[in-house]
Formats: sequence, C-alpha cells, structure tokens
Amino acid sequence: MADVDILISGGGVAGLTAAALFGRHGFSVLLCDPAPPVTEAEDAGSDLRTTAFLQPARDLLEDAGLWGRLSAHAAPLQIMRIVDAGGELAEPRVTRDFNAADISSGPFGWNLPNWLLRREMVARLADLPNVDFRPGTGTRTLLTREREALVGLTDGTRVRARLVIAADGRNSPMRTAAGIEVKTTRYGQKALAFAVTHPIPHDNVSTEIHRSGGPFTLVPLPDRDDMPCSAVVWMEDGPEALRLSQLATAEFEAAMMDRSCGLFGPLRLATRRTLWPIITQVADRMSAERLALIAEAAHVVPPIGAQGLNMSLGDLRCLRDLALASPDTLGSREMLDTYHRRRHTEVVTRATGIDALNRASQISAQPLRDLRAAGLSALYGAAPVRKMLMQMGLGATAKG
Ligand SMILES: Cc1cc2nc3c(=O)[nH]c(=O)nc-3n(C[C@H](O)[C@H](O)[C@H](O)COP(=O)(O)OP(=O)(O)OC[C@H]3O[C@@H](n4cnc5c(N)ncnc54)[C@H](O)[C@@H]3O)c2cc1C
Repeated sequence: MADVDILISGGGVAGLTAAALFGRHGFSVLLCDPAPPVTEAEDAGSDLRTTAFLQPARDLLEDAGLWGRLSAHAAPLQIMRIVDAGGELAEPRVTRDFNAADISSGPFGWNLPNWLLRREMVARLADLPNVDFRPGTGTRTLLTREREALVGLTDGTRVRARLVIAADGRNSPMRTAAGIEVKTTRYGQKALAFAVTHPIPHDNVSTEIHRSGGPFTLVPLPDRDDMPCSAVVWMEDGPEALRLSQLATAEFEAAMMDRSCGLFGPLRLATRRTLWPIITQVADRMSAERLALIAEAAHVVPPIGAQGLNMSLGDLRCLRDLALASPDTLGSREMLDTYHRRRHTEVVTRATGIDALNRASQISAQPLRDLRAAGLSALYGAAPVRKMLMQMGLGATAKG
C-alpha cells in the first residue's frame, strides 16, 4: 500500500495548484483524477473559461513555483468597469469604474485561460519528485481513523494518507463518502464562456454589462491574430443561453453586438461556445476526520467578481499555513477544526454576497432594473464605499 502525507482527489485547477504548493513545501503528495487534463485549447473537452486571478493569488502561485510559468501569458486587469444597460434600449445608462491605482501600485489581477493553466501546472508537477500525479485514476472509497485515512483508488490499489484534500468538484465523491451535506441554490441560469476579438482595444479594462438574465462580462486577454481579444462570460436564463449557444455564428455575433451595447465594436467569435450551469452551493463543513474540502467540493458561486477560484486559493493558503505551522500534526482533528472555523464563515459570507449580486443582475422587470441602476449610481458614487468594494475584490477581507 502506498503511504503519503497528502492525497489530493481531483486534478482540476484547484487540485493541480494544491499539488504544486504542498509538493514545493516538501510533503509527499499523490494527486489522482479519472479524467486526464486537456491542455490544448483546440482539443475536445478543453476548458475555455478563463480565471481572473485577483492580486493576493500571485503570492500563492509564486509560492507554488507556478507564477514564473504563468506570468508571460497573463493579461493584467487595471480597471473594473460596471455598466448598467437595463433601460428600454440596449445602451449604457450608468457606468462606474474601479481603478486599481486608487488603492494599489499593481493591477487588480491577471487573466489566464484555464486550459493553459492546466498545461503549465502539469509541467510544473513534473519538476517535483515528491508529487505522484496519476491522471486516469480516481478515488473510489474513503475510510478514516483518528491517525490516518485509507483511500481506495479506481485501479484497485489503496493509499494511506495523513490528510486527504478533496478537490474533486461540485459532486465531490470524497465529500459524499465523508457524509458532508451541501446547501444548493439553483437560478435556472447558465453561463456561456468563449473568447472574442474586437476592433476597439480593451485597455486592460474588465467590463461587466448588466441588462437582464445575468451579466455579460468581457475580461481582457492578450491579443490574438493581431486583434484585441477578451474572454466573455454571458449569463442568461437557461433556455435563452441554450438558444444562443446554438445560433449560427453570424446571428450569434449580431446578438453579442447588441448585448455588449457595441462598446468594443463588432465582436468576432474566436473559440467555440461552452455552457456552464450556474448554482450557489456551500458544504455544511469544510472538513471531516482526516479530510479537508477545497474549491468547488466546498463552495460553488456564480461567476461574478472572479470569486470562485480565488476563494479556493484562500482555502489553500489557510491549509498551507496550518500545515507549515505544525507539520507533525498534519491532518489532525485540531488542524482540520481550525481550518473549518477559519474558512467556513468567510465562504458563507462571500457566497451570500455573490448570490445577491446575481439575483440583482438577473431581474427582468423594468422598475426593478431602474432601481438597480439608481443603486449602482448611489453606491459606487460614494468614495468610501467604492474603496471598500475594491478592497473586497482584492481579497483584503480574506482571512487565513
Ligand atoms: C463561466 C465561469 C467563469 C469563471 N470565472 C472565474 C474567474 O474569473 N475567477 C475565478 O476565481 N473563478 C472563476 N470561475 C470559477 C472557477 O472556474 C472554478 O472555481 C474552478 O474551475 C473549479 O475548479 P475545481 O478544481 O474546484 O473543480 P473542477 O475543475 O470541476 O475539478 C474537479 C476535478 O475532480 C475530478 N474528479 C471527479 N471525480 C473524481 C474522483 N472520484 N477522483 C478524483 N478526481 C475526481 C474531475 O475529473 C475534475 O477534474 C468561473 C466559473 C465559471 C462557470
């Protein structure tokens, strides 16, 4: 039977980051995932979403030995622009900018494609002899005792670990095996994720346009085919999102032009369109005996304000600090109870805030849309409020 310090179930972006982080700090790590990572944009099943890493993510990625590989591919995000276009016509009526320069010498964050993150993270793991990455093998069973966890893998082998990290997604098998329940909110909403090129430069501004059904967000990417390029997340009620995903390219591009209020000129589709169901889901606990939940195994939020994976890095930061403070008690009840306490309240608070923003963005009744525009004006017009919101975006309230 293999014996490791940490078994990580799930090699999505969160699990890969966890393996690089704990591997770099000298822990023996086994990372497994039944689905081998897709590391090219054009390959079937590639993840065409992007991740806007907020400023605090950089230190963690540096600590994991990842930032050096990623920085050359990252588009900096200097300004976050919120546009309300909820009037009768699809045109901007309130626009508010948050400039990172108001609170920091650096940008808000950096945007990177998820398929590229997987490619660079897998390459980094190959440099770490104490990390055993087993794509094609999943976790199947979990048996825990006070001093260890025994995990059965899909290849029939068993592994003994001091700590199991569940990074195995929103339907986490390790979470289920530990009997941890979740609370799920459904919105009947889906997100389309894809990339576009456009004639008007983005100038490192991330733009979130609100009308109804959910935000239409353009996040800067490096130029593509000598044209300015952005990642788009377009949230709509489920049937409308499905209809949009099936439109012929020319019709879809016309619909995008309308929904983006022409702010960037004609948008040209640069990748295929992918569809993602939108939910909020929070686990009742962040830990159980010898088990820590991170990322979507613990919390799923709508893609607003780039919180999802950034919260996951908050989980990892907390686990790393606890592990390094007392390596001998890795995976102990005391360590995992502390992890739960430090993270759960923060996760619930952020999930509640994002749920409220999503509901406000989804509304279709005109009087409520007018109210939202007025709220945006009043709220973001007040300098201290604006500063606080920006600091929250930068994760300044994150603990652990
Ligand atoms: C449209 C959209 C845009 C987003 N944009 C942002 C953003 O800008 N910034 C941000 O911070 N967040 C963003 N997010 C959120 C972010 O994408 C997610 O938080 C992140 O991708 C989830 O990563 P994960 O590793 O937790 O889960 P997943 O990517 O789902 O990975 C889970 C892995 O577990 C594996 N698995 C399943 N079963 C087993 C098993 N039995 N054993 C082992 N492994 C198993 C799966 O194969 C999978 O590879 C966005 C989300 C959406 C939907």
